[in-house]
Amino acid sequence: SGSENPAVAKEATLESKDNLSKKIALEVARRRTFGIISHPDAGKTTLTEKLLLFSGAIQLAGTVKARKSARHATSDWMDIEKQRGISVASSVMQFEYRDHIINLLDTPGHQDFSEDTYRVLTAVDTALMVIDAARGVEAQTIKLLEVCRMRNTPILTFMNKLDRETRDSLELLDEVETVLKIRCTPITWPIGMGKNFRGVYHLLNDEVMLFAPGNEKADQAFEVIKGIDNPRLTEMFPLEMEQLKMEVELVKGASNPFVLEEFLAGTLTPVFFGSAINNFGVREVLNALLDWAQPPLGRNATVREVQPTEPAFSGFVFKIQANMDPAHRDRIAFLRVCSGRFERGMRLKHLRLNREIKVSSVVTFMASSREQVEEAYAGDIIGLPNHGNMQIGDSFSEGEALQFTGIPYFAPEIFRSVRIRNPLKVKQLHKGLQQLGEEGAVQVFKPVLGSDLILGAVGVLQFEVVASRLMNEYGVDAVFEGTSISSARWITAEDKRILSDFEKSLAHNVAYDAAGNLTYLATSGVNLRLTEERWPKLKFHATREHS
Ligand code: GDP
Repeated sequence: SGSENPAVAKEATLESKDNLSKKIALEVARRRTFGIISHPDAGKTTLTEKLLLFSGAIQLAGTVKARKSARHATSDWMDIEKQRGISVASSVMQFEYRDHIINLLDTPGHQDFSEDTYRVLTAVDTALMVIDAARGVEAQTIKLLEVCRMRNTPILTFMNKLDRETRDSLELLDEVETVLKIRCTPITWPIGMGKNFRGVYHLLNDEVMLFAPGNEKADQAFEVIKGIDNPRLTEMFPLEMEQLKMEVELVKGASNPFVLEEFLAGTLTPVFFGSAINNFGVREVLNALLDWAQPPLGRNATVREVQPTEPAFSGFVFKIQANMDPAHRDRIAFLRVCSGRFERGMRLKHLRLNREIKVSSVVTFMASSREQVEEAYAGDIIGLPNHGNMQIGDSFSEGEALQFTGIPYFAPEIFRSVRIRNPLKVKQLHKGLQQLGEEGAVQVFKPVLGSDLILGAVGVLQFEVVASRLMNEYGVDAVFEGTSISSARWITAEDKRILSDFEKSLAHNVAYDAAGNLTYLATSGVNLRLTEERWPKLKFHATREHS
């Protein structure tokens, strides 16, 4: 046998190593990990459902939708808790299409909007921006795009609801360019809209895809007619075709050509028009994701950049979700794989705690259900059961000491002061908030003056969740009150003496966050600007890295 002959054994190991490298390279190359960014009601849920249809992951339209309405029927805590099991399954969806493995990460919106929404975007490689073509660019899209920009994430754009009366298409592109500051390159162009929506013209392929309503099938075949000058088209839609030719002329002259490198650099977005509910134009976006968007790339860590095809496993936690199963009070840490191959039963090093863990019950997220994962590669998300010792931003490896960077905390936008009805429970309150803060459920600030703690969030549901969890898990009945704080900034300075001057002078507005960072709590935008002007040697940060 091989073990008796060292040379043969060595060759066998080399060969299997070589095979593993090849296998990893192949698996990485066919992966795409993306998230959808949109303002509520633009059509994210509908589009998600259609995308899943293409993979055969769900048979009937309506599945994702049903989950969504169940989830939003009420924000009562018991219901939130009950529905967690459902929402977690839909927070990461993996499906196959054209021999690719696609990971779609949900970016919670609506009342679920929270810091998770932002942080999920640090775990995706591409974003699909969905815009309601009747409404144009809306507030939440602006915020989410800003977050994408921090990592220059490539953006695909889908202009939705062309089966309705929409805004003028050129005007929409102009709005995206001026408000979101990203250049547009239309790939398809709509022919008419609303009742007169005829289809889309593919500018690169010079073909018209005719619109037909209907939505139940994935492989819905829309008729395609080649050539903008095709007499059949002119015959069918004389008015619309004339208009289309004029617009195409304009668009070709005025807009940017598609340049792959610019898309990959996040400075140019390919734009597709369609109607999610009719599954029209959806396949084109999915194909663009496979053809143009990149597989997982290298990721920065403290010591070096980690390549996805490296044989050793590594990854980082970007989200922690609690109480998915109320009976077990378990938490799941969502980890993005950055390199190597994950296999069940593997030993991993939890780098912050410098502790080895054996992960036997890891979950993956197939579109239809929560399943046990057998193996995972860069770009995939795995769920590690977590008994309260994992934090957002934690890195895991097979032993190498590397800490992935770029997992930010965002300055909260809404604030509450918190106190307890029963002063004897103050210890429990602090413990609870400490843990919830580490999980990333909410940010906790301890003002330099006064005894009330300040909680900061980006979505109001975060407070609701924290209040209920304090009650259920720590037995603390907390009272949340409004505050006069309107924004927070982390403060740093080269000269430490200035920091203490600052802390003394503005003690009423200075606090420490859970990780011990000095923070300025501003009462208004004007107040923040004035303070920044008065303290030119200080830096005011709207984000901070995990530490
Ligand atoms: P989300 O909040 O972004 O997830 O949006 P949804 O997918 O729930 O869609 C919001 C509403 O817009 C729902 O009533 C959808 O049925 C509707 N909708 C989505 N796509 C289309 C579309 O292409 N055309 C029309 N007319 N309505 C759409």
